[in-house]
Amino acid sequence: MADRVHVLPYFFGNITREEAEEYLRQGGSGDGLYLLRQSRSFLGGYALSVAYGRQFYHYTIERDMNDTYAIAGGKSHRTPIDVIDYHSQESDGLVCLLKRPFNRPRGTEPKVGPFEDLREQLIRQYVKQTWNLQGSALEQAIISQRPKLEKLIATTAHEKMPWFHGKIDREDSEQRLLRSSRVNGKFLIRQRENNGRNVSFALCLLHNNQVMHYRIDKDRAGKLSIPDGKKFDTLWQLVEHYSYKPDGLLRVLTETCPRPSHDSVPQVGFSPESNHTPSPNLAKKRCTNTPLSSSLSPTGSGRTPALLACEAMPMDTQVYESPYADPEELRSTTVKRSDLTLEDGELGSGNFGTVLRGVYQMKKTQKIVAVKILKNDDNNTAVKDEMLREASVMQQLDNPYIVRMIGICEAENLMLVMELAELGPLHKFLQKNKHISMKNITELVHQVSMGMKYLEEHNFVHRDLAARNVLLVTQHYAKISDFGLSKALAEEENYYKAKGHGKWPLKWYAPECMNYLKFSSKSDVWSFGVLMWEAFSYGQKPYKGMKGNEVIQMIESGERMSAPADCPAEMYNLMRKCWTYKPDERPGFSVVEPRLRHYYYDISQ
Ligand code: AMP
Repeated sequence: MADRVHVLPYFFGNITREEAEEYLRQGGSGDGLYLLRQSRSFLGGYALSVAYGRQFYHYTIERDMNDTYAIAGGKSHRTPIDVIDYHSQESDGLVCLLKRPFNRPRGTEPKVGPFEDLREQLIRQYVKQTWNLQGSALEQAIISQRPKLEKLIATTAHEKMPWFHGKIDREDSEQRLLRSSRVNGKFLIRQRENNGRNVSFALCLLHNNQVMHYRIDKDRAGKLSIPDGKKFDTLWQLVEHYSYKPDGLLRVLTETCPRPSHDSVPQVGFSPESNHTPSPNLAKKRCTNTPLSSSLSPTGSGRTPALLACEAMPMDTQVYESPYADPEELRSTTVKRSDLTLEDGELGSGNFGTVLRGVYQMKKTQKIVAVKILKNDDNNTAVKDEMLREASVMQQLDNPYIVRMIGICEAENLMLVMELAELGPLHKFLQKNKHISMKNITELVHQVSMGMKYLEEHNFVHRDLAARNVLLVTQHYAKISDFGLSKALAEEENYYKAKGHGKWPLKWYAPECMNYLKFSSKSDVWSFGVLMWEAFSYGQKPYKGMKGNEVIQMIESGERMSAPADCPAEMYNLMRKCWTYKPDERPGFSVVEPRLRHYYYDISQ
């Protein structure tokens, strides 16, 4: 959403009420002249400033729980732009109809608030510190989780601010403020003792050599305020507000009283009040250090995977980074049988045989794994070769959104040891969980596009991309699997030519696969469109009730599947793009992934 709003000529960014009024005055202040700005108290919210009868009126456009926008007490709309369109037709509580937008003067960009500048830096620092990631693992974490990380950062960013002193007592705060310069308006914020109840803070302000303490309470909705004062989503917004007007305080905040350097990390840690539970460190620690039986491997039927209950981020799980990312765990393609314990109970079964859950003893840790076991009743070497080919493709891939191979174990059977994606295939999960939101589905589909972009960049074609081959680690973490038909392309090639037709998933195949036996990343994009359709229809069968040749005829005649019920128009448009007949005109994953990414960010803000 922010992207779309930021390009509006009448959006002024992070300006104050007074600055908005000044602009409207410049515009002649005619009744109904308006501009839009960023809310300085509500995260993701906006403010509408309107001129009427030589006065100015300001309305907050808040974003609610359902990701819709409304002026308090008014009708909800999908976007802030829709709110403005609506109030151009209906005053519905506004002082007048919105008549004319006031556009930014030439050369003026929307004003960037102090936090926006810091945000990027803080997100990086946070991901690095919390999950100990770097390089491409860090980049991929930020791309796929940006909306959640931004929210997390917004509510914890104060811990990085020099004015935030953590849990110190009243006397301590007074000593710190009275030390060195005694400028009026010098301030700090401390966290108060709270007897285990809600977190509360105190703003300590220097006024004529005396320290005033203002309590900052958090209400049930999580909004922060000084008693009877304006409410804010975050402490940094509160500081920003009182730095430009006293609004009930004895004076404005002028100078930060910096945290002493030896105390650079406040005692509260980086995320005392974030919504991200369990804290990322804990979750990861829990995955790696707790005995397997009590965390990731609960026993009994109807078990709830440990990470399903909370909104765990992919980085919280054991399978975000390769097990070999730890240099002490030397990569080896072979797994010793004595290091592998197989458990009862099938995870699933496929062409090769069954997939069981197992435990792999590594040098430093134990990993819960999935083990694909080749049924070798008839000692068929062709099937064995096929499985080894799949293993050799998987072995070359290392991406958080692709199931990694851990190794091959040759024992009583040939076994492929892989990362475990406990919740199983996407289509089955969605069939059973119809309450999953469109935002959640978009998040998962976006992750698949990230994995596919990685394959495209590394010259691999998957050739069997479908919802059944996307496995879920958690409700918020998808991985591409099943590389049985995949091919690595030579540098100079951009497609693979099959020698003949096989037992193919025709409903997922692009026309050039059927007509010319040509497979490329572009034909994977076609399959991805079908996968999107499956996901947004909660795991329904594509082209239901149709035979393969009927589907081919339908595609050749230019017809395509219609949109799943309630599918967002943006997502259906993208599917249609994936089903562009000619591969040259079809977008690649380098285009599809950012389209999904931006849509996901838009609906998540
Ligand atoms: P496949 O032979 O690859 O088609 O796998 C057959 C079934 O086994 C899948 O549909 C899943 O239900 C299950 N399965 C395969 N690989 C994994 C894995 N890495 N983690 C969890 N379940 C898996």
